[in-house]
Amino acid sequence: MKQQPEAFHPNSTAALADPVLRSNFRGAMDFLRSKRRTAFAVDDAEGGDFDALSRRGEAIKQRCLQQLPALLEQLEQNCTRNGIQVHWAETPAQANQIIESLIRARSGKHAVKGKSMVTEEIGLNDYLDDRGVRCIESDMGEFIVQLAGETPSHIIMPAIHKDAGQIASLFEKTLEDTPYTEDVDRLIGIGRQQLRERFQHADVGITGVNFAVAETGTLCLVENEGNGRMCTTIPPLHIAVTGIEKVVAQLSDVPPLLSLLTRSATGQKITTYFNMISSPRKPGEQDGPEEVHLVLLDNGRSQAFADEELRKTLQCIRCGACMNHCPVYTRIGGHAYGTTYPGPIGKIVSPHLLGLDATKDLPTASSLCGACEEVCPVRIPIPKLLQRLRVESSHAGTAEEKVKGAGSGRKPLEALVWRIWSWACRHPAIYHRGASLAAHGRKLFKFLPSRWKTQRTMPQPAKITLHTALKNRQRRSASPCPQEKIY
Ligand code: SF4
Repeated sequence: MKQQPEAFHPNSTAALADPVLRSNFRGAMDFLRSKRRTAFAVDDAEGGDFDALSRRGEAIKQRCLQQLPALLEQLEQNCTRNGIQVHWAETPAQANQIIESLIRARSGKHAVKGKSMVTEEIGLNDYLDDRGVRCIESDMGEFIVQLAGETPSHIIMPAIHKDAGQIASLFEKTLEDTPYTEDVDRLIGIGRQQLRERFQHADVGITGVNFAVAETGTLCLVENEGNGRMCTTIPPLHIAVTGIEKVVAQLSDVPPLLSLLTRSATGQKITTYFNMISSPRKPGEQDGPEEVHLVLLDNGRSQAFADEELRKTLQCIRCGACMNHCPVYTRIGGHAYGTTYPGPIGKIVSPHLLGLDATKDLPTASSLCGACEEVCPVRIPIPKLLQRLRVESSHAGTAEEKVKGAGSGRKPLEALVWRIWSWACRHPAIYHRGASLAAHGRKLFKFLPSRWKTQRTMPQPAKITLHTALKNRQRRSASPCPQEKIY
């Protein structure tokens, strides 16, 4: 589906006006936050001390990112040695073409897919559908959003915006002979029944990758429903797709990251299934695909990698905790962003994938409260990166600026105001005169016309300027005096 971050403003206004959506999100986010809190209880004897674990996770990701090019080459060598064929894709179009050609080589028509945000990023389902290959989502949440003709609204819980009644109506409407029921166990049973047959007849299984281990050439996949295991064992062809940042150096890097991921995402100490795929089926083995392929996708990640500060974006392990704690995301939901990755992580990832020109409104949709950074298991300084992207979008671009579209958010009136401000700051007499006039006319500021005021209260200039206040204070410094009241 086409990504439309340009529609962020109308989308978020519509989401705010939808009481059902807001209540669904409120309940789901409260639930996930409390599960995460419990999973990271400090007195947890099983190593759930968030601070210590997250420092370790950050160090692992930073070390691996520092060696990214070398690790990717090592991963390719070891995967190839194990019999996994590795493909490199710079763009979504290239990734889609590679996947299509692999399916065509086997005359495949039916694909089953495990939950994978990177395949959402490249729009794989629509691409394959247009070329006669039906790709069925096998994760229950993804299956629901696919039936509804929607995209995931959360990176961990794709259908979190829907309540049981909405899912019951959807199943009744779209699945044959399905009665309306809000019983969650029965709804899951209905979904399972639908999928079982698809697994048996699938020509290809497509999945994402949570961690790709360079030293062993192993692809790690975290999941709860067993559908990932079905996708990677039943069809004769398995295609794993991942962003290049998912590579880690060694197997010992995986357990701390896995612990952080599951605790942050769903509040579990470990997920039900943890798959480690190291090769296609070997002679004598009972199951497993005949061919395994790994598609490594760049899609703007090299651009982030090249900038030491923005590289931190690539530390993300896609746990979704930043979304669950974001005051903006929890009110408007994921679809409002118009991007594959919503919420705080989406605001710093999407500019690399889609360019700052198209996504310039996203970094501004944050209160910079810092909740996202506080809960991030790999300590990504999201508010700082958002500030950087805000500045970059509103200042004219230079050759050094890394995110395409620098200066795209610059408005002529805003630019003129800043130019006047800069000129006044260089002429003290004019600056003081202006500051004094603003202080005298402070009450008039609330009448200034501005769209900014629709959500906020217009601040007023101080009663006296800072210079005057300091001068007054100096005058009185000899004698103990009450603090100068500036506001
Ligand atoms: S930015 Fe941090 S909290 Fe958000 S999804 Fe990535 S790892 Fe999780």
